[in-house]
Amino acid sequence: MEASYKNCQSCGMPLKRDEKGGGTNYDRSKSKMYCSKCYENGKFTTPNMTVEEMRTLVKEKLKESGFPGFLAGLFTRNIPKLERWKKNS
Ligand SMILES: [Zn+2]
Repeated sequence: MEASYKNCQSCGMPLKRDEKGGGTNYDRSKSKMYCSKCYENGKFTTPNMTVEEMRTLVKEKLKESGFPGFLAGLFTRNIPKLERWKKNS
């Protein structure tokens, strides 16, 4: 059984803030692990992205939406611990 998470296990965004309510699995059910921006139809939307690229992207997005730089840094520091990245490290 798929565990459910509060935050997307790829980018760290809170899943309840996802306007689509989560990514989609192969069978079109909702993913409880990944958000709609990271995961569609059972695949990552950015399969070749590295964890560092993800951190940079999320940091930029947070700053764009008005987060101070140090908070964006704190938030993205935990990205390498998320499920998507743990296996490859
Ligand atoms: Zn995500």
